[in-house]
Amino acid sequence: MASCLFCEIRDGKIPAKRVYEDDACLGFDDIQPQAPTHVLLIPRLHVATVNDLTPENAALVGRLFLAAAQVARERGLSERGYRLVVNTHRDANQTVFHLHVHLIGGRAMKWPPG
Ligand code: 5GP
Ligand code: ZN
Repeated sequence: MASCLFCEIRDGKIPAKRVYEDDACLGFDDIQPQAPTHVLLIPRLHVATVNDLTPENAALVGRLFLAAAQVARERGLSERGYRLVVNTHRDANQTVFHLHVHLIGGRAMKWPPG
């Protein structure tokens, strides 16, 4: 596998502000935050996109959402709300091909997204 930015962050080769860790997932601040809270939740396992998930990864996806909900709770966002985003491929502007959930919150957001 060619080098992967988020695998390198997972391995501590590239620094990031870690805000969540468990045995399956890692959370760190986005380098270019789009809101007061902008955290990326990644699986420790390298999976490139949603398209690459297999049935064996089903629990892992659940773990990512539970991790996001915990960070949101810690930030006091549970009640006021927040957005979880998973960009996949070109039309959605996916730029890093290691599955990640954007947790975006702390400001009101519009719908539909751009
Ligand atoms: P995507 O567009 O693939 O859904 O999101 C990739 C995200 O990774 C972007 O929001 C971008 O700002 C973030 N990002 C890119 N490079 C780095 C980096 O080196 N460190 C961190 N913490 N975030 C990054
Ligand atoms: Zn990776």
